[in-house]
Amino acid sequence: MSMAKKVPFVDPETCIGCSACSAVCPDVFEMQEDGKSKAVNEASDSEENIQNAIDTCPVQAIRWKQKNEPAEKG
Ligand code: SF4
Repeated sequence: MSMAKKVPFVDPETCIGCSACSAVCPDVFEMQEDGKSKAVNEASDSEENIQNAIDTCPVQAIRWKQKNEPAEKG
């Protein structure tokens, strides 16, 4: 188990708003008014289930980032 402070990040440029991540991991991924998903409560589910949500995204819009990493980078 890694102790690194990694958190999920949804790239809004890539997200197609299918809501699959929110179905798998609703406590973390919340659909926004713009139709895109956003990671709103990054610590509210297990790393394993967040990874399940990442793996279910059909366009690979979700990735891990370091807690303090600017969202724009990567
Ligand atoms: S699964 Fe991917 S494309 Fe679908 S809403 Fe989540 S981030 Fe967006």
